[in-house]
Order: sequence, then structure tokens, then C-alpha cells
Amino acid sequence: MFKIYLRVLGQLGPEKRLGVFLALANLFLAVAAFAEPVLFGKIIDVLTRTAGTGVKPTWPELMPLMLGWVGFGIFTIMAGVYVALHADRLAHRRRLAVMADYFEHALTLPIAYHTATHSGRVLKVMLDGTSGMWGLWLSFFREHCASIVALFVLLPFTMWLNWQMGLLLVVLVLFFGALTAFVLRKTEKLQGSVERYHSDLAERASDALGNVPVIQSFTRIETEVRGLHTTIKSLLDAQIPVLSWWALATIATRASATLTVLSIFSLGTWLYMQGLTTVGEIVTFTSFATMLIGRLEQVVGFVNFIFMQAPKMREFFEVMDTLPQVRDKPDGKDATRLSGQISFNNVSFSYDGKRPAVLDVSFDVSPGETIAIVGSTGSGKSTTLGLLHRAFDPQSGGISADGVDLRDYTLGSLRRNIGVVFQEPMLFARTIRENLLVGKPDATEEEMQMALDRAQATGIMARQTDGLDTMVGERGRTLSGGERQRISIARALLKNPPILILDEATSALDATTEAKLQKALDEVMRGRTTFVIAHRLATIRNATRILVFEQGKVVESGNFEELVASGGRFAALARAQYLAGSEKKDEAVAAAPKKGRKTARTHEEPTLSPLAAKISST
Ligand code: ADP
Ligand code: MG
Repeated sequence: MFKIYLRVLGQLGPEKRLGVFLALANLFLAVAAFAEPVLFGKIIDVLTRTAGTGVKPTWPELMPLMLGWVGFGIFTIMAGVYVALHADRLAHRRRLAVMADYFEHALTLPIAYHTATHSGRVLKVMLDGTSGMWGLWLSFFREHCASIVALFVLLPFTMWLNWQMGLLLVVLVLFFGALTAFVLRKTEKLQGSVERYHSDLAERASDALGNVPVIQSFTRIETEVRGLHTTIKSLLDAQIPVLSWWALATIATRASATLTVLSIFSLGTWLYMQGLTTVGEIVTFTSFATMLIGRLEQVVGFVNFIFMQAPKMREFFEVMDTLPQVRDKPDGKDATRLSGQISFNNVSFSYDGKRPAVLDVSFDVSPGETIAIVGSTGSGKSTTLGLLHRAFDPQSGGISADGVDLRDYTLGSLRRNIGVVFQEPMLFARTIRENLLVGKPDATEEEMQMALDRAQATGIMARQTDGLDTMVGERGRTLSGGERQRISIARALLKNPPILILDEATSALDATTEAKLQKALDEVMRGRTTFVIAHRLATIRNATRILVFEQGKVVESGNFEELVASGGRFAALARAQYLAGSEKKDEAVAAAPKKGRKTARTHEEPTLSPLAAKISST
């Protein structure tokens, strides 16, 4: 807990100097707060000493005390103004700065981290963690720092004024301190689970909000709300005992105010009767007592606050401490522009460290080749290409580009060389223009038009009310799947990389559009090393080489004719996938492998038959 506390103060980072000044101002405030009762007591002593004797107190006797008091008063005001002016601003500035750091860090975390952690949780941790720190800084500088000084430094000092009363104060403060520590210990675990429920709540809610269409069409609104209520109930069940303990602590501290003042007063009176103290000292200590109890209340409130916030900040620091596994080596090379030669050497990768997603994959690609990757879903195709643009690094084996291991390049320079059209065409909830500029920040209007044109997306643009400036909604949801895919292809084309990855980039397109796009893609692929994951014949047929994946392994490789002729898995797959449903051509199909020819036709794209006819006639 204490470590977190120090770490949060450490987050003041570049503004530590201002922090130190504020702490000094607080120190001064604490000292001044102690000086006032002391001066007050002294003045009373001067007045009472002269009271019985009939000698009037003289101004020269009182003046220094009064002036001192005025002096402290003025300093208190000045230090107070300084703190008030700067503490809040500092806390606000740092909150936003730390938030920006977190944001940047979260973006560098590996894809594997983000697939395992819900974005709702990542966001919640960011907002809660930073607002927790903000509260901590604020209360630290506004009062907490002064309270610590008062309790730990000045309290022992009171023993020097009058040891009996001083000791009594120390004992009382220790007692209440122990009480707080006890409550803290009692509730610490519970509060941790409260925070986990809070995160669950955020995750559940944002998950539901991201899937509203599903919830509505499956009439799950009630179920979802009930699910949320269950989490809320568990949260409250954990939270309420914590609150009760803290209520007890607060009440005890408050009751102690009266108790402390009363006992100081009684002890003081007894000492006075023994001639061991003066009226002035009793007055001084009574104000000390009230003040210290006030401080103690603040500290208890503060400890309570940190304690409630600690799990949030702990979660925050956990994220900050997660090191991206994929990161630059200190002496990383600039990849400049790669030629596109790629080798995979015995590459294996597993997401969970148990089940391999890619197993012992090796292949070489020369610049400009088109490699088609086929295989049933879940066979490791996307993962293999993810390894190529270092979404993750292989656990064993290595991948090289232009003869240099990928890990020896700087990440940025490597990724500038690789254009990826993801399986799920992820778009930003911004305008189409902004989405395209992601590919090339300084793209001109013509370049964008050309890219859209090559991606067969000009038709989409014609339908948009604001053209390039049309907003596309969260993840591009105002566009259809095929439209999103074409925009994301255009985005990758603008990047103009020597290596292109198309991960089922055309899966959401209808056959006519795909056939058109295919021609464009053929042209785009020329002069680039292209990896294309596809299920459709047209794409695969034109590839220089086909890699057939099965359970993470490359089980066959070769060009279309070779693979079909060999009659292996690809031939079987091809028959099942491309030719099923064409009963009329069953005989032709049966004959096809032997002849190295093939008729293409799938369930969902009958319009491909002209193409199929063309192919079977080759
Ligand atoms: P494909 O693209 O061939 O359909 P993937 O490469 O996406 O297959 O997946 C290969 C295997 O790895 C699958 O079994 C899949 O369940 C698993 N997998 C994919 N992504 C993740 C992930 N982020 N975390 C854990 N397992 C994953
Ligand atoms: Mg995939």
C-alpha cells in the first residue's frame, strides 16, 4: 500500500520540483498551525501572571508575542494561497499527462494482450486509475502533507513544552492510529474484490453496448440487465462491510475529539493544582488536542481514500508494468525499403504456451512472389502472417526479411514495409478521408481517389452523402462488410508497401465485385511480395505458390497445378471447397485432379461459373 502511495507521488514526474515546493509550503503551514496555540498560551500566561499581583502587563512584554502571531498569520495566508493556486493545477495537469502515457503504453501492448483484455476494462482502468491519483495528489498537497508533519514531527515536540500533557497526546494519537490500522487490515481484501467487480461491471457494460444489434435481435435486453444486476449485487455485498468498518472508524475518531480534549483538560487542571503547569499551557494543549484530532480525522479520511483507490491504482500500474514482448532492440536497424525476400525458419508460436497455433513452419519467398495460404479456419493462417508483421514474435525459430532477422529491425521501420488488410476490416469512427490517411498521412486527393479506384471503392464513394468526409461510425459500422473491406484495401494500397498481407480481404465481397477487385489486386500485387489468405479459386489459382495449412503446420506446398495433380490434401480441399454443389460437373470434377484441371463453383457464388468455365478450358 505504502509502495503504491510513493509510486503515485513519483508519477508527478517532471513536475516534482513544484511538488517539493508545495510540500515545503505545507510544512510551513503545519509549523504555523502549531505556533499559534503556543503564542496564544504565552499571551495568556503573561496576562494571568500579572492578574493576581495587581501589576498590569506591559506592551513591550506582549508586543513580540503579538507580532509573532501576526507574522505567522500572514505567512499562513501566503502559503495557503500558494498551495491553493498550484496544487489543483498540478494535479489536473499530471492527471492528463499520466493518462496520455497510459494511452500510449496501452497502444504498444501486444495484440495478444488486447485480445485477452476487454477494451472496456482497459478504458476503465485508465479513467479510474488517473482520477484516483488526481485525488491523492490533491489531498496530499492540500492537507495530507501538513497532517503528516503535524503528527510525526510536531507531536513529539509538544513533550518538550510539557511532558505529561505531551505524552498523553502521543498516547491518544497512537491509540486512534492503531484503530485505523485495524480497520484497514479488516477491509483490505474486501476492497480488492470490490474493485474487481467494478472492472467486471465496466467490461460487461461495454461488451453489451458493443453488441446492441445482437442483444436486440435475440431479445436479450432483460437477460443482459439481469446479468449486470448480479454483478452489482456482488459488488454491493463486498462493499457494504467495508463501509460499515469505515463508518465505525470515523465515528470513533470523532468521539475521540471530545475524549481527548476532556482528558487533556483534566490532566492540565490536576497539574496546575500541583503547580506543575500554567493556565497558558493548558490553553495551548487544549488547542493542540483539538487541532491534532482534526489532523487525525484528515489522515484517517485520507488513508481511507487511498485504501479505496489503491486497487484501482494497482490495476493501473499493472497495465503500465506490462512490457510489450515485441519491442525494439536498443541497436535496432532501420529496414529502409525492403526488397520483399522473406524466410520462415522452423517457426513455432503458441498463444497460451500450451497449444501451438503455428508449428515448425519453414518456407522461403522471393521478392515479388504471391503466396496463397489456404487451410481450414483455425489452422494458423492469420497467426503465421501476424508473426510476419510482428504482432507477436515466434517462441522458437526465426523469420528474416532480406536476410536479416525481423527482431533486428526497428519495429516502426519494419511495419512501414508491410501493408496489412485485416480479416476484420477495422476502421476508425472518423471520416473516410481520415481512415485513408492512416495509410499515408500526406496522401493527396488524387492519390486517395486512385487508391479507392483500384480497390473498386469509387462506387461506394458515390453513395456517401459527404463523399470522403462521410463519418463511418464505430469500427466503420455505417458501411457494409464489403464496403469496409474495400476501404481498408485502399488504405493499405496508399501505404504502397513492398510486402502486402491480405487476410481474407475479399471474403465479404460478392462475386462480381470480387472478380473486379481481383483484377485490381493482381495489378497491385505486381512488384510486391504478397501473402494472401483466401478461400476462392480465382485468387489461389494465380499465386506463385500455395501453402496448405493444417493445425498450424504447412502440410503441402506448390503451385495450383502441382497440388491438384498430386491429389493430396489440397486437391481434396479444393474439391470440397470449390467444386461442391456443381453436381452437373461431378464427372469433370472426378477427372480434374488427374488432368490437373478444375472446375470452380461454390454454393455462394454461382456467378463464378464463367470463370470456372474459363479455367476448365485452360
Ligand atoms: P486462421 O486464420 O487459420 O483461421 P488463426 O491463426 O486465427 O487461424 O488461429 C489459429 C489458432 O490460434 C486457432 O486455434 C485459434 O483459436 C487460436 N487463436 C487465434 N487467435 C488467438 C488469440 N488471440 N488468443 C488465443 N488463441 C488464438
Ligand atoms: Mg484467420
